[in-house]
Amino acid sequence: MIYKRSSALFAEAEKVIPGGVNSPVRAFKGVGGTPIFVKEAKGAYLYDEDGNRLIDYINSWGPMILGHAHKPVVDAVVEKAQKGTSFGMPTEIETKIAELAVSMVPNIDKIRFVNSGTEACMSAVRLARGFTGKDKFIKFAGCYHGHSDSFLIQAGSGASTFGTPNSPGVTQGTAKDTLLAKYNDIDNVRALIQANKDEIACVIIEPVAGNMGCIPPKDGFLQSLRDLCSENDILLIFDEVMTGFRLSKGGAQELFNIKADIVCFGKVIGGGLPVGAFAARNEIMNHLAPLGPVYQAGTLSGNPLAMAAGLAMISELNNDSEIFTRLEAKTKYLHEGIAKVLAENNVVHTINRVGSMISVHFDEGAVTDFDTAANGNNETFKTFFHGLLGEGVYIAPSAFETWFITDALTYEDLDFTIAAIDKVAKTL
Ligand code: PLP
Repeated sequence: MIYKRSSALFAEAEKVIPGGVNSPVRAFKGVGGTPIFVKEAKGAYLYDEDGNRLIDYINSWGPMILGHAHKPVVDAVVEKAQKGTSFGMPTEIETKIAELAVSMVPNIDKIRFVNSGTEACMSAVRLARGFTGKDKFIKFAGCYHGHSDSFLIQAGSGASTFGTPNSPGVTQGTAKDTLLAKYNDIDNVRALIQANKDEIACVIIEPVAGNMGCIPPKDGFLQSLRDLCSENDILLIFDEVMTGFRLSKGGAQELFNIKADIVCFGKVIGGGLPVGAFAARNEIMNHLAPLGPVYQAGTLSGNPLAMAAGLAMISELNNDSEIFTRLEAKTKYLHEGIAKVLAENNVVHTINRVGSMISVHFDEGAVTDFDTAANGNNETFKTFFHGLLGEGVYIAPSAFETWFITDALTYEDLDFTIAAIDKVAKTL
């Protein structure tokens, strides 16, 4: 593959955009090399500025569950754009998408739309604090809830009580209210709750973690978390920015049959436009301004183009009774194919998968939390990544990311990918 034009465009971008990118992981820091500039995309494929075609397993980091430039979504956006792109006034389409989302997702009465997953999670924690009158919250090491200050907290050792900021600019004052727990370790959560009795407003969790590779919750973990929260008047927030409208119509709540108190959305719900949302029962949502005292707002929130894309996307998912089964079958096929060729080539690995989320870890032990995810061999990953790129298969340029399977992928694409992995595995 030739990346001449991408390299030239990156050099230009670096002059005027920090690191040449508008979101750090795009910069290939984790794998080396220069990022690829995309020109256009259709279905399962990306076409870059040098004319290369790549099978896409990132899919804009999750949103493009039906493939790129999916016609109903594009048509809805184009039609709306001709009627004005933003009003800052209520529009009917906001109610339409809200009604549909509320009908698809269990256990929510009202939903508020924002512009990103970060905003959704940040607002959900504020709402939980306002509702409970408590300040602290628990997050899990390795879970990502966006770049808002209180989420950018590094894992301390074991059951460390106070978080340590891991980005300059996040103050100790902010960090001290973020308590860190170990994913899949209910005793650790229980100990944190006991040590901070009556001070914890909420626990926020990715019900299937997707930001340290894909890490499923252990059997019973989410239920125990639910029980602990209920027993201690703590709200349970499911960050379903990745899992919402991806693992099932009703997301992880439906898949695992666990009720969260507040649910956050992003990615798929926006159909590829900048959208996030958070939702809960009336009792909680009625605390939000203008009904209640907890403030939250946005000039572009509920933007007509974003709502049109989101409504078209989730309508498609709602109307297709086979979609989630089909996605899971494709992901399982890929999983089995990858496992076979890696084993045949004696490559030490672990593969995690839930629904249409999958990740390959170059380590043989079970990958169940941030520490075990960090054990993976990053040098092997780098060779794997660049090898696959050379074969025309684009996975995320970081060992800590999940691959997202899209319905646009055909079994031929999956076979092509497995053959490419077989070839690359011989070089590892
Ligand atoms: N929550 C989860 C689980 C995410 O994966 C992400 C982004 O990847 C976010 C929140 C933040 O969303 P955004 O990047 O739209 O701000």
